[in-house]
Amino acid sequence: MSQVRTRFAPSPTGYMHIGNLRTCLYEYLIARVNGGTFVLRIEDTDQERYVEGAMDAVFGTLELTGIGYDEGPGKEGDCGPYIQSQRREIYKKYAEELVRRGHAYYCFCTKERLESLKGGDENLGASLNYDRHCRYLTQEEIAANLAAGKPYVIRQMMPTEGTTTFTDLVYGDITVDNKTLDDQVLLKSDGLPTYNFANVVDDHLMGITHVVRGNEYLSSTPKYNLLYEAFGWEIPTYIHCPPIMKDQHQKLSKRNGDASFLDLVNKGYLVDAILNYIALLGWSPRGNEEFFTLKELEKEFTLEGLSKSPAIFDIEKLKWMNGEYIRRMSPEDFRKAADKWLHEGLGDALYADEAVVNKVAALVQQRCVILSDIPERIRFLKELPEYDTAIYCHKKMKTDETISLRSLELTLPFVKAYTGEWISGDLYTGLCELAAANELKNSQILWPVRTACSGMEVSPGGATELMELLGRDETVRRIEAGISLLKAKLEA
Ligand code: GLU
Repeated sequence: MSQVRTRFAPSPTGYMHIGNLRTCLYEYLIARVNGGTFVLRIEDTDQERYVEGAMDAVFGTLELTGIGYDEGPGKEGDCGPYIQSQRREIYKKYAEELVRRGHAYYCFCTKERLESLKGGDENLGASLNYDRHCRYLTQEEIAANLAAGKPYVIRQMMPTEGTTTFTDLVYGDITVDNKTLDDQVLLKSDGLPTYNFANVVDDHLMGITHVVRGNEYLSSTPKYNLLYEAFGWEIPTYIHCPPIMKDQHQKLSKRNGDASFLDLVNKGYLVDAILNYIALLGWSPRGNEEFFTLKELEKEFTLEGLSKSPAIFDIEKLKWMNGEYIRRMSPEDFRKAADKWLHEGLGDALYADEAVVNKVAALVQQRCVILSDIPERIRFLKELPEYDTAIYCHKKMKTDETISLRSLELTLPFVKAYTGEWISGDLYTGLCELAAANELKNSQILWPVRTACSGMEVSPGGATELMELLGRDETVRRIEAGISLLKAKLEA
């Protein structure tokens, strides 16, 4: 088998969304599992749809994910340049060659004429946009138009009879009636190629063996095949991926503002978790294992695992996976990944104390699902929030406001007189002894203390973990605050 070469060919017309990244990942993996080459090609011939910053988003995404390309902009190989707007002359040459071979023709129709055709000519088949007027110009007419400098496009000359069949690795054999194929434009009047043409020329010149793309391209593929055949070029293996759905009915789409990769990262999803999740949207691994690093995918990925059923982008599943990734990280890696969120939640003063930051990180690592959960969960350390004393009541912990008041009143002098080391384990033993001495259950002391220290129904640590973080003075202040609140409530 010849050397496997794949390519990711983004158009800089918007931000990288989940579907683009999946295509990119699959192309990359097909190259890696086969020891092949992965090419990056920028398809920027549609200048009207160009979006500022979109190229940077592509490069930024590749860098963040670790999906490295072997050839492409900045990594010149034998097939460059890799940016289509720099390959103008190449497309022109091939379009003209196609004219010579009788598979394409010059079209001088004006915009106005084309406009007037829309929905007008009953001789046009349902799917045809152009009536093929210029297909039948004589050589003299063509020469005269060219000599007069009339603007022109070059159109593909579709066969009017028969069928075209192509094979897709995921969808199988697909056959279309040639008479439904429009004489599509290959080269525009500005001399730039259309996507449909540039794509075929470049895939051939760059030696691409496997083409992965969304199934919205399935209907254009027969036209590509006819181009390959007209040139006498080898047709690559096509792999069309099913759409990624938002739910049963709607596609995920950047137009609807659905998740772009960088949005997810900014929301606190881990790059590795996103990649892992995306790999599974349309591909099933051989066994039951669902967790794969990129390095593992580079060995595990199989073409047989690709499926044609639409995949649903289930944010809950991604969240779950993200939480699992967080739990599996080393404390150092988590500390690094969570840094900005820890800073935001703790504020400058607490963040300056590295020991506190590390302890908080260790606590939240066990509980958070996405990194952006962190600030809300730890903000109470910076400042005790206002809270309702109802949160002291907890059936399972066997507490209510009266019991909590008594517990806090017992804990306050204990804390003030405490002479042991101010660490969670020792404080825990002390509080349990205090509970026993007063015929209370452990939870009847621990829950009220946890509540007083956090002012929250849920906190990233238990009573004594919070006490250790807050230090003795702040713990005393918060227990006193709890006592006054409970007193005020019970006396009201
Ligand atoms: N430039 C096309 C896009 O961004 C690429 C499609 C393909 O991979 O062939 O949709």
